[in-house]
Amino acid sequence: MANLISDIVEQARLTSRALIEYSHNLFEPTVRLGVTGLSRAGKTVFITALVHGLLRGGRFPVFEAMASGRIARARLAPQPDDTVPRFAYEAHLAQLLTERQWPDSTKQISELRLVIEYQSQNRSMRELTLDIVDYPGEWLLDLPLLRQSYEEWSAETIRLSREGDRADLAGAWHFEIAALDPRAPADETLAQTVARHFTDYLRNCRDERFALSLLPPGRFLMPGELADSPALTFAPLDRLEGSAPSGSLWAMMRRRYESYKDAIVRPFYRDHIARLDRQVVLVDTLTALNAGPDALRDLERALAAILDSFNVGRNSILSALFAPRIDRILFAATKADLLHHTSHDRLERILERLVADAAKRADYSGARIDAIAMASVRATTEAHVGGAQGTLHAIMGTPLAGEQAGGRTFDGESQIVIYPGDLPENPAAMFDPQTRFRGLSSAPSDDTDYRFLRFRPPALERIEGGVPALPHIRLDRALEFLIGDRLR
Ligand code: GDP
Repeated sequence: MANLISDIVEQARLTSRALIEYSHNLFEPTVRLGVTGLSRAGKTVFITALVHGLLRGGRFPVFEAMASGRIARARLAPQPDDTVPRFAYEAHLAQLLTERQWPDSTKQISELRLVIEYQSQNRSMRELTLDIVDYPGEWLLDLPLLRQSYEEWSAETIRLSREGDRADLAGAWHFEIAALDPRAPADETLAQTVARHFTDYLRNCRDERFALSLLPPGRFLMPGELADSPALTFAPLDRLEGSAPSGSLWAMMRRRYESYKDAIVRPFYRDHIARLDRQVVLVDTLTALNAGPDALRDLERALAAILDSFNVGRNSILSALFAPRIDRILFAATKADLLHHTSHDRLERILERLVADAAKRADYSGARIDAIAMASVRATTEAHVGGAQGTLHAIMGTPLAGEQAGGRTFDGESQIVIYPGDLPENPAAMFDPQTRFRGLSSAPSDDTDYRFLRFRPPALERIEGGVPALPHIRLDRALEFLIGDRLR
Protein backbone atom coordinates (compact mmCIF):
# COMPACT_ATOMS: atom_id res chain seq x y z
CA MET A 1 0.00 0.00 0.00
CA ALA A 2 2.79 2.39 1.00
CA ASN A 3 4.52 1.55 -2.30
CA LEU A 4 1.37 2.23 -4.27
CA ILE A 5 0.91 5.62 -2.62
CA SER A 6 4.52 6.61 -3.23
CA ASP A 7 4.18 5.49 -6.89
CA ILE A 8 1.08 7.67 -7.30
CA VAL A 9 2.82 10.66 -5.67
CA GLU A 10 5.85 10.12 -7.91
CA GLN A 11 3.69 9.90 -11.06
CA ALA A 12 1.91 13.11 -10.07
CA ARG A 13 5.25 14.86 -9.53
CA LEU A 14 6.58 13.71 -12.92
CA THR A 15 3.40 14.66 -14.71
CA SER A 16 3.38 18.12 -13.19
CA ARG A 17 7.06 18.58 -14.13
CA ALA A 18 6.27 17.45 -17.70
CA LEU A 19 3.38 19.93 -17.88
CA ILE A 20 5.51 22.79 -16.54
CA GLU A 21 8.27 22.00 -19.06
CA TYR A 22 5.72 21.72 -21.86
CA SER A 23 4.12 25.10 -21.16
CA HIS A 24 7.52 26.71 -20.59
CA ASN A 25 8.60 25.36 -23.96
CA LEU A 26 5.62 27.02 -25.67
CA PHE A 27 6.80 30.46 -24.57
CA GLU A 28 10.54 29.89 -24.42
CA PRO A 29 11.57 27.31 -27.02
CA THR A 30 14.17 25.10 -25.40
CA VAL A 31 16.44 22.33 -26.64
CA ARG A 32 17.79 19.98 -24.00
CA LEU A 33 20.98 18.54 -25.44
CA GLY A 34 22.57 15.50 -23.79
CA VAL A 35 26.32 15.10 -24.25
CA THR A 36 27.65 11.67 -23.42
CA GLY A 37 30.40 9.19 -24.23
CA LEU A 38 32.62 6.88 -22.22
CA SER A 39 35.29 8.30 -19.97
CA ARG A 40 37.96 10.27 -21.93
CA ALA A 41 35.85 10.32 -25.10
CA GLY A 42 36.10 14.12 -25.13
CA LYS A 43 32.84 15.41 -23.52
CA THR A 44 34.39 18.21 -21.45
CA VAL A 45 36.47 19.50 -24.34
CA PHE A 46 33.48 19.27 -26.71
CA ILE A 47 31.14 21.28 -24.47
CA THR A 48 33.79 23.88 -23.66
CA ALA A 49 34.60 24.38 -27.36
CA LEU A 50 30.95 24.43 -28.41
CA VAL A 51 29.92 26.97 -25.77
CA HIS A 52 32.98 29.12 -26.47
CA GLY A 53 32.19 29.04 -30.18
CA LEU A 54 28.59 30.13 -29.56
CA LEU A 55 29.43 32.85 -27.04
CA ARG A 56 32.35 34.30 -28.90
CA GLY A 57 31.35 33.51 -32.46
CA GLY A 58 33.54 30.70 -33.80
CA ARG A 59 34.65 29.97 -37.35
CA PHE A 60 31.68 27.80 -38.23
CA PRO A 61 31.03 27.94 -41.99
CA VAL A 62 28.71 24.91 -41.97
CA PHE A 63 26.61 26.18 -39.03
CA GLU A 64 24.27 28.25 -41.22
CA ALA A 65 22.69 30.47 -38.54
CA MET A 66 26.10 31.71 -37.44
CA ALA A 67 27.77 31.79 -40.86
CA SER A 68 24.95 33.93 -42.29
CA GLY A 69 25.14 36.35 -39.35
CA ARG A 70 21.64 35.56 -38.05
CA ILE A 71 22.90 34.88 -34.52
CA ALA A 72 22.93 38.25 -32.78
CA ARG A 73 24.28 37.08 -29.44
CA ALA A 74 24.53 34.08 -27.13
CA ARG A 75 24.74 34.39 -23.34
CA LEU A 76 24.94 32.10 -20.33
CA ALA A 77 21.87 31.96 -18.08
CA PRO A 78 21.01 30.30 -14.74
CA GLN A 79 20.33 26.59 -15.26
CA PRO A 80 16.88 25.12 -14.56
CA ASP A 81 17.88 22.27 -12.19
CA ASP A 82 19.07 23.57 -8.82
CA THR A 83 20.36 20.21 -7.60
CA VAL A 84 22.56 19.41 -10.61
CA PRO A 85 26.14 20.78 -10.54
CA ARG A 86 26.86 23.53 -13.08
CA PHE A 87 29.29 22.62 -15.90
CA ALA A 88 32.48 24.48 -14.94
CA TYR A 89 32.74 26.25 -18.29
CA GLU A 90 34.89 29.23 -17.22
CA ALA A 91 37.45 27.05 -15.39
CA HIS A 92 37.66 24.59 -18.30
CA LEU A 93 38.12 27.39 -20.83
CA ALA A 94 40.85 29.03 -18.74
CA GLN A 95 42.72 25.72 -18.62
CA LEU A 96 42.56 25.45 -22.41
CA LEU A 97 43.30 29.06 -23.30
CA THR A 98 45.57 30.31 -20.53
CA GLU A 99 47.37 27.20 -19.37
CA ARG A 100 47.27 25.28 -22.66
CA GLN A 101 46.20 22.22 -20.67
CA TRP A 102 43.25 19.90 -21.27
CA PRO A 103 40.48 20.51 -18.72
CA ASP A 104 39.48 18.04 -16.00
CA SER A 105 37.29 15.28 -17.43
CA THR A 106 33.63 14.52 -16.69
CA LYS A 107 33.18 12.55 -13.47
CA GLN A 108 29.46 13.12 -12.91
CA ILE A 109 26.42 14.86 -14.37
CA SER A 110 26.51 18.64 -14.87
CA GLU A 111 24.46 21.20 -16.72
CA LEU A 112 24.81 24.59 -18.44
CA ARG A 113 22.15 26.91 -19.93
CA LEU A 114 22.73 29.20 -22.89
CA VAL A 115 20.30 31.60 -24.52
CA ILE A 116 20.83 32.24 -28.23
CA GLU A 117 19.30 35.42 -29.66
CA TYR A 118 18.82 35.08 -33.41
CA GLN A 119 16.97 36.45 -36.38
CA SER A 120 14.57 33.89 -37.80
CA GLN A 121 14.45 33.32 -41.55
CA ASN A 122 11.36 35.57 -41.68
CA ARG A 123 13.49 38.30 -40.01
CA SER A 124 11.82 38.44 -36.58
CA MET A 125 14.08 38.35 -33.50
CA ARG A 126 13.77 35.17 -31.41
CA GLU A 127 15.46 33.31 -28.58
CA LEU A 128 16.38 29.66 -28.28
CA THR A 129 17.32 28.30 -24.85
CA LEU A 130 19.93 25.54 -25.02
CA ASP A 131 20.33 23.35 -21.95
CA ILE A 132 23.46 21.23 -22.20
CA VAL A 133 23.54 18.14 -19.97
CA ASP A 134 26.93 16.43 -19.62
CA TYR A 135 26.89 12.90 -18.19
CA PRO A 136 29.10 9.78 -18.23
CA GLY A 137 28.22 7.26 -20.97
CA GLU A 138 28.96 4.53 -18.43
CA TRP A 139 25.72 5.49 -16.64
CA LEU A 140 23.72 5.16 -19.83
CA LEU A 141 24.99 1.62 -20.30
CA ASP A 142 23.20 0.74 -17.06
CA LEU A 143 19.77 1.17 -18.60
CA PRO A 144 19.62 -2.34 -20.13
CA LEU A 145 19.95 -3.63 -16.53
CA LEU A 146 16.39 -2.43 -15.91
CA ARG A 147 15.20 -5.28 -18.11
CA GLN A 148 17.48 -7.91 -16.54
CA SER A 149 17.05 -9.89 -13.32
CA TYR A 150 20.10 -10.52 -11.13
CA GLU A 151 20.20 -14.10 -12.45
CA GLU A 152 20.18 -12.95 -16.10
CA TRP A 153 22.73 -10.21 -15.50
CA SER A 154 25.08 -12.59 -13.63
CA ALA A 155 24.89 -15.23 -16.37
CA GLU A 156 25.41 -12.66 -19.16
CA THR A 157 28.29 -10.85 -17.42
CA ILE A 158 30.13 -14.07 -16.62
CA ARG A 159 29.58 -15.45 -20.13
CA LEU A 160 30.98 -12.25 -21.68
CA SER A 161 33.96 -12.31 -19.31
CA ARG A 162 35.01 -15.68 -20.76
CA GLU A 163 35.32 -14.28 -24.32
CA GLY A 164 38.44 -12.96 -26.13
CA ASP A 165 40.66 -10.47 -24.30
CA ARG A 166 38.26 -10.40 -21.37
CA ALA A 167 39.07 -13.98 -20.29
CA ASP A 168 42.69 -13.07 -19.44
CA LEU A 169 41.68 -9.87 -17.70
CA ALA A 170 39.11 -11.69 -15.55
CA GLY A 171 41.60 -14.29 -14.22
CA ALA A 172 41.77 -13.16 -10.57
CA TRP A 173 38.05 -12.52 -10.34
CA HIS A 174 37.15 -15.92 -11.95
CA PHE A 175 39.47 -17.62 -9.48
CA GLU A 176 37.66 -15.86 -6.64
CA ILE A 177 34.12 -16.78 -7.71
CA ALA A 178 35.05 -20.39 -8.52
CA ALA A 179 35.89 -20.86 -4.83
CA LEU A 180 32.67 -19.26 -3.58
CA ASP A 181 29.52 -21.00 -2.44
CA PRO A 182 26.60 -18.70 -3.36
CA ARG A 183 24.50 -20.42 -0.64
CA ALA A 184 27.00 -19.55 2.09
CA PRO A 185 25.77 -17.05 4.69
CA ALA A 186 25.92 -13.41 3.55
CA ASP A 187 29.14 -11.82 4.73
CA GLU A 188 30.10 -8.16 4.23
CA THR A 189 33.85 -8.75 4.03
CA LEU A 190 33.34 -11.45 1.41
CA ALA A 191 30.96 -9.21 -0.54
CA GLN A 192 33.56 -6.42 -0.51
CA THR A 193 36.32 -8.74 -1.74
CA VAL A 194 34.25 -10.10 -4.64
CA ALA A 195 33.03 -6.62 -5.59
CA ARG A 196 36.64 -5.37 -5.55
CA HIS A 197 37.88 -8.19 -7.81
CA PHE A 198 34.96 -7.62 -10.16
CA THR A 199 35.63 -3.86 -10.29
CA ASP A 200 39.34 -4.53 -10.95
CA TYR A 201 38.31 -6.72 -13.89
CA LEU A 202 36.10 -3.93 -15.29
CA ARG A 203 38.91 -1.43 -14.84
CA ASN A 204 41.44 -3.71 -16.59
CA CYS A 205 39.06 -4.00 -19.54
CA ARG A 206 38.92 -0.21 -19.82
CA ASP A 207 42.72 0.06 -19.96
CA GLU A 208 43.74 1.70 -23.24
CA ARG A 209 45.53 -1.46 -24.36
CA PHE A 210 42.17 -3.27 -24.48
CA ALA A 211 39.77 -0.31 -24.65
CA LEU A 212 36.65 -2.42 -24.04
CA SER A 213 33.44 -0.46 -23.74
CA LEU A 214 30.50 -2.56 -22.58
CA LEU A 215 31.16 -2.77 -18.85
CA PRO A 216 28.06 -2.26 -16.69
CA PRO A 217 27.29 -1.44 -13.91
CA GLY A 218 28.50 2.00 -14.94
CA ARG A 219 28.89 3.42 -11.44
CA PHE A 220 31.57 0.83 -10.66
CA LEU A 221 33.89 2.68 -13.05
CA MET A 222 32.36 6.14 -12.77
CA PRO A 223 30.86 6.31 -9.27
CA GLY A 224 30.17 10.07 -9.15
CA GLU A 225 29.05 10.92 -5.62
CA LEU A 226 28.65 7.19 -4.76
CA ALA A 227 32.37 6.33 -4.52
CA ASP A 228 32.96 3.68 -1.81
CA SER A 229 29.28 3.45 -0.90
CA PRO A 230 27.66 0.08 -0.05
CA ALA A 231 25.32 0.57 -3.02
CA LEU A 232 28.27 -0.53 -5.18
CA THR A 233 29.22 -3.58 -3.10
CA PHE A 234 27.82 -6.39 -5.22
CA ALA A 235 29.01 -8.56 -8.09
CA PRO A 236 27.70 -11.31 -10.37
CA LEU A 237 27.97 -14.85 -9.00
CA ASP A 238 28.31 -18.09 -10.91
CA ARG A 239 25.20 -20.08 -11.73
CA LEU A 240 23.16 -21.28 -8.83
CA GLU A 241 21.18 -24.51 -9.20
CA GLY A 242 17.83 -24.26 -7.43
CA SER A 243 16.87 -21.35 -5.22
CA ALA A 244 18.93 -19.19 -2.90
CA PRO A 245 18.14 -19.42 0.82
CA SER A 246 17.35 -16.12 2.47
CA GLY A 247 20.39 -14.77 4.29
CA SER A 248 22.75 -16.29 1.69
CA LEU A 249 25.47 -14.46 -0.22
CA TRP A 250 23.43 -14.88 -3.42
CA ALA A 251 20.32 -13.35 -1.82
CA MET A 252 22.39 -10.40 -0.53
CA MET A 253 23.93 -9.75 -3.95
CA ARG A 254 20.55 -10.00 -5.64
CA ARG A 255 19.00 -7.51 -3.19
CA ARG A 256 21.84 -5.01 -3.73
CA TYR A 257 21.60 -5.38 -7.51
CA GLU A 258 17.87 -4.62 -7.33
CA SER A 259 18.45 -1.58 -5.11
CA TYR A 260 21.15 -0.33 -7.49
CA LYS A 261 18.52 -0.36 -10.23
CA ASP A 262 15.81 1.21 -8.06
CA ALA A 263 17.84 3.83 -6.27
CA ILE A 264 20.35 4.78 -8.98
CA VAL A 265 19.50 3.65 -12.52
CA ARG A 266 15.74 4.41 -12.59
CA PRO A 267 15.97 7.92 -11.10
CA PHE A 268 18.84 8.79 -13.45
CA TYR A 269 16.79 7.75 -16.46
CA ARG A 270 13.62 9.47 -15.26
CA ASP A 271 15.22 12.74 -14.13
CA HIS A 272 17.70 13.21 -16.94
CA ILE A 273 17.55 10.94 -20.01
CA ALA A 274 13.76 11.03 -20.37
CA ARG A 275 13.88 14.83 -20.63
CA LEU A 276 16.38 15.12 -23.49
CA ASP A 277 15.46 16.33 -27.00
CA ARG A 278 18.77 15.83 -28.72
CA GLN A 279 21.78 13.72 -27.94
CA VAL A 280 25.41 13.63 -28.98
CA VAL A 281 27.40 10.47 -28.26
CA LEU A 282 31.15 11.05 -28.41
CA VAL A 283 33.24 8.03 -29.30
CA ASP A 284 36.98 7.61 -28.92
CA THR A 285 37.08 5.42 -32.02
CA LEU A 286 40.82 5.84 -32.48
CA THR A 287 41.69 4.24 -29.15
CA ALA A 288 39.41 1.29 -29.96
CA LEU A 289 41.02 1.01 -33.42
CA ASN A 290 44.43 0.98 -31.80
CA ALA A 291 43.41 -1.77 -29.38
CA GLY A 292 42.19 -4.06 -32.18
CA PRO A 293 39.09 -5.94 -33.43
CA ASP A 294 37.98 -7.18 -29.97
CA ALA A 295 37.73 -3.59 -28.77
CA LEU A 296 35.87 -2.58 -31.94
CA ARG A 297 33.29 -5.33 -31.60
CA ASP A 298 32.82 -4.40 -27.96
CA LEU A 299 32.39 -0.76 -28.91
CA GLU A 300 29.79 -1.79 -31.50
CA ARG A 301 27.80 -3.61 -28.79
CA ALA A 302 28.11 -0.65 -26.44
CA LEU A 303 26.86 1.78 -29.11
CA ALA A 304 23.89 -0.51 -29.80
CA ALA A 305 23.11 -0.58 -26.07
CA ILE A 306 23.36 3.22 -25.95
CA LEU A 307 20.89 3.60 -28.82
CA ASP A 308 18.54 1.12 -27.17
CA SER A 309 18.65 3.14 -23.97
CA PHE A 310 17.14 6.14 -25.70
CA ASN A 311 14.13 4.00 -26.56
CA VAL A 312 13.27 2.84 -23.05
CA GLY A 313 9.57 3.62 -22.49
CA ARG A 314 8.43 6.91 -21.06
CA ASN A 315 7.20 7.10 -17.50
CA SER A 316 3.54 8.02 -17.87
CA ILE A 317 0.98 8.59 -20.58
CA LEU A 318 0.88 12.32 -19.85
CA SER A 319 4.61 12.81 -19.82
CA ALA A 320 4.83 10.77 -23.04
CA LEU A 321 2.41 13.24 -24.58
CA PHE A 322 3.99 16.41 -23.26
CA ALA A 323 7.66 15.68 -22.68
CA PRO A 324 9.95 15.96 -25.68
CA ARG A 325 11.67 12.85 -26.95
CA ILE A 326 15.05 12.46 -28.51
CA ASP A 327 14.58 13.11 -32.21
CA ARG A 328 18.21 13.55 -33.27
CA ILE A 329 21.23 11.54 -32.23
CA LEU A 330 24.72 12.39 -33.40
CA PHE A 331 27.57 9.91 -33.05
CA ALA A 332 30.88 11.72 -33.26
CA ALA A 333 34.34 10.14 -33.49
CA THR A 334 36.48 12.59 -31.54
CA LYS A 335 40.16 13.62 -31.79
CA ALA A 336 40.21 13.42 -35.61
CA ASP A 337 43.11 15.89 -35.42
CA LEU A 338 45.29 12.90 -34.53
CA LEU A 339 44.92 11.85 -38.19
CA HIS A 340 45.70 13.61 -41.45
CA HIS A 341 42.58 15.02 -43.13
CA THR A 342 42.82 12.36 -45.85
CA SER A 343 41.68 9.88 -43.18
CA HIS A 344 38.80 11.92 -41.72
CA ASP A 345 36.14 10.55 -44.09
CA ARG A 346 37.51 7.06 -43.51
CA LEU A 347 37.15 7.49 -39.76
CA GLU A 348 33.59 8.65 -40.35
CA ARG A 349 32.86 5.52 -42.40
CA ILE A 350 34.24 3.28 -39.66
CA LEU A 351 31.96 4.96 -37.12
CA GLU A 352 29.00 4.71 -39.52
CA ARG A 353 29.65 1.01 -39.81
CA LEU A 354 29.88 0.66 -36.04
CA VAL A 355 26.41 2.15 -35.54
CA ALA A 356 24.78 0.83 -38.74
CA ASP A 357 22.85 -2.13 -37.32
CA ALA A 358 21.72 -0.34 -34.20
CA ALA A 359 20.74 2.71 -36.26
CA LYS A 360 18.46 0.61 -38.47
CA ARG A 361 16.50 -0.37 -35.37
CA ALA A 362 16.32 3.21 -34.10
CA ASP A 363 14.88 4.28 -37.47
CA TYR A 364 11.60 2.76 -36.36
CA SER A 365 11.40 5.20 -33.49
CA GLY A 366 11.77 8.14 -35.86
CA ALA A 367 15.04 9.60 -34.52
CA ARG A 368 17.43 11.03 -37.13
CA ILE A 369 20.92 9.65 -36.71
CA ASP A 370 24.18 10.94 -38.13
CA ALA A 371 27.84 10.00 -37.68
CA ILE A 372 30.79 12.37 -38.10
CA ALA A 373 34.52 12.49 -37.41
CA MET A 374 35.56 15.68 -35.66
CA ALA A 375 37.98 17.39 -33.28
CA SER A 376 36.42 19.80 -30.80
CA VAL A 377 39.80 21.48 -30.37
CA ARG A 378 42.37 20.92 -33.04
CA ALA A 379 45.74 20.37 -31.37
CA THR A 380 47.71 19.63 -34.53
CA THR A 381 48.35 21.08 -37.96
CA GLU A 382 49.31 19.20 -41.11
CA ALA A 383 52.67 18.74 -42.73
CA HIS A 384 53.94 16.86 -45.75
CA VAL A 385 57.10 14.89 -45.35
CA GLY A 386 59.00 13.50 -48.34
CA GLY A 387 60.21 9.93 -47.83
CA ALA A 388 61.52 6.97 -49.80
CA GLN A 389 57.89 5.90 -50.48
CA GLY A 390 56.78 9.35 -51.62
CA THR A 391 55.07 12.08 -49.59
CA LEU A 392 53.76 11.06 -46.18
CA HIS A 393 50.62 12.63 -44.69
CA ALA A 394 52.10 13.89 -41.44
CA ILE A 395 50.77 15.98 -38.55
CA MET A 396 52.59 18.46 -36.34
CA GLY A 397 51.97 19.35 -32.69
CA THR A 398 53.43 19.66 -29.20
CA PRO A 399 53.24 16.36 -27.26
CA LEU A 400 52.27 16.71 -23.59
CA ALA A 401 55.17 16.78 -21.14
CA GLY A 402 56.17 13.22 -20.21
CA GLU A 403 54.77 11.57 -23.37
CA GLN A 404 57.16 9.16 -25.06
CA ALA A 405 57.72 8.08 -28.65
CA GLY A 406 60.66 6.59 -30.55
CA GLY A 407 62.75 6.42 -27.36
CA ARG A 408 62.24 10.13 -26.65
CA THR A 409 60.50 11.76 -23.69
CA PHE A 410 58.87 15.08 -24.52
CA ASP A 411 59.12 18.26 -22.48
CA GLY A 412 55.73 19.77 -23.36
CA GLU A 413 57.36 22.63 -25.31
CA SER A 414 58.94 21.21 -28.46
CA GLN A 415 56.96 20.51 -31.59
CA ILE A 416 57.25 17.31 -33.56
CA VAL A 417 56.18 16.16 -37.00
CA ILE A 418 54.86 12.63 -36.97
CA TYR A 419 53.25 10.22 -39.41
CA PRO A 420 49.99 9.07 -37.79
CA GLY A 421 49.22 6.26 -40.21
CA ASP A 422 46.43 6.22 -42.81
CA LEU A 423 43.16 4.48 -42.10
CA PRO A 424 42.08 1.90 -44.71
CA GLU A 425 39.59 3.00 -47.36
CA ASN A 426 37.36 0.04 -46.66
CA PRO A 427 36.10 0.15 -43.05
CA ALA A 428 35.62 -3.65 -43.06
CA ALA A 429 39.41 -4.04 -42.95
CA MET A 430 39.44 -2.77 -39.37
CA PHE A 431 37.19 -5.62 -38.22
CA ASP A 432 39.54 -8.26 -39.60
CA PRO A 433 41.26 -10.08 -36.68
CA GLN A 434 44.58 -9.81 -38.55
CA THR A 435 44.45 -6.01 -38.68
CA ARG A 436 45.83 -3.77 -36.03
CA PHE A 437 46.00 -0.06 -36.61
CA ARG A 438 48.91 1.31 -34.65
CA GLY A 439 48.56 4.96 -35.48
CA LEU A 440 50.46 7.34 -33.24
CA SER A 441 51.26 4.79 -30.58
CA SER A 442 53.22 6.44 -27.84
CA ALA A 443 55.70 3.56 -27.93
CA PRO A 444 55.24 1.85 -31.30
CA SER A 445 58.08 -0.60 -30.85
CA ASP A 446 56.94 -1.80 -27.43
CA ASP A 447 54.09 -4.30 -27.60
CA THR A 448 52.93 -3.49 -24.09
CA ASP A 449 51.86 0.09 -24.71
CA TYR A 450 49.64 1.20 -27.58
CA ARG A 451 48.41 4.39 -26.01
CA PHE A 452 47.90 7.31 -28.36
CA LEU A 453 50.43 10.08 -28.17
CA ARG A 454 48.70 13.06 -26.57
CA PHE A 455 49.30 16.60 -27.77
CA ARG A 456 48.91 19.85 -25.85
CA PRO A 457 46.05 22.12 -26.84
CA PRO A 458 47.11 24.56 -29.57
CA ALA A 459 49.01 27.79 -28.94
CA LEU A 460 46.56 30.53 -29.98
CA GLU A 461 47.28 33.91 -31.44
CA ARG A 462 46.55 36.65 -28.93
CA ILE A 463 43.89 39.00 -30.21
CA GLU A 464 43.97 42.64 -29.14
CA GLY A 465 41.28 43.04 -26.43
CA GLY A 466 39.56 39.79 -27.38
CA VAL A 467 39.42 36.07 -26.76
CA PRO A 468 40.83 33.90 -29.54
CA ALA A 469 38.69 31.37 -31.41
CA LEU A 470 39.56 27.71 -30.92
CA PRO A 471 40.50 25.77 -34.05
CA HIS A 472 38.39 22.65 -34.64
CA ILE A 473 37.47 20.05 -37.22
CA ARG A 474 33.79 19.77 -38.21
CA LEU A 475 32.43 21.07 -34.90
CA ASP A 476 30.22 23.31 -37.03
CA ARG A 477 28.73 20.25 -38.73
CA ALA A 478 27.89 18.86 -35.31
CA LEU A 479 26.17 22.14 -34.34
CA GLU A 480 24.22 22.34 -37.59
CA PHE A 481 22.87 18.83 -37.09
CA LEU A 482 22.11 19.27 -33.39
CA ILE A 483 20.42 22.71 -33.33
CA GLY A 484 20.51 24.19 -36.86
CA ASP A 485 16.84 23.37 -37.57
CA ARG A 486 15.74 25.08 -34.32
CA LEU A 487 17.30 28.38 -35.44
CA ARG A 488 15.40 28.76 -38.72
P1 GDP B 1 35.63 13.22 -20.99
O1 GDP B 1 36.08 12.19 -20.00
O2 GDP B 1 34.69 12.62 -21.99
O3 GDP B 1 35.10 14.49 -20.36
O4 GDP B 1 36.92 13.59 -21.86
P2 GDP B 1 37.70 14.99 -22.00
O5 GDP B 1 36.89 15.99 -22.72
O6 GDP B 1 38.25 15.38 -20.68
O7 GDP B 1 38.89 14.52 -22.95
C1 GDP B 1 39.80 13.52 -22.55
C2 GDP B 1 41.14 13.76 -23.21
O8 GDP B 1 41.02 13.54 -24.61
C3 GDP B 1 41.65 15.19 -23.06
O9 GDP B 1 42.33 15.36 -21.86
C4 GDP B 1 42.55 15.30 -24.28
O10 GDP B 1 43.80 14.68 -23.99
C5 GDP B 1 41.83 14.46 -25.32
N1 GDP B 1 40.98 15.25 -26.23
C6 GDP B 1 39.67 15.58 -26.07
N2 GDP B 1 39.22 16.26 -27.15
C7 GDP B 1 40.26 16.38 -28.00
C8 GDP B 1 40.44 16.96 -29.31
O11 GDP B 1 39.53 17.55 -29.90
N3 GDP B 1 41.70 16.83 -29.86
C9 GDP B 1 42.72 16.18 -29.23
N4 GDP B 1 43.90 16.09 -29.85
N5 GDP B 1 42.59 15.62 -28.01
C10 GDP B 1 41.38 15.72 -27.42
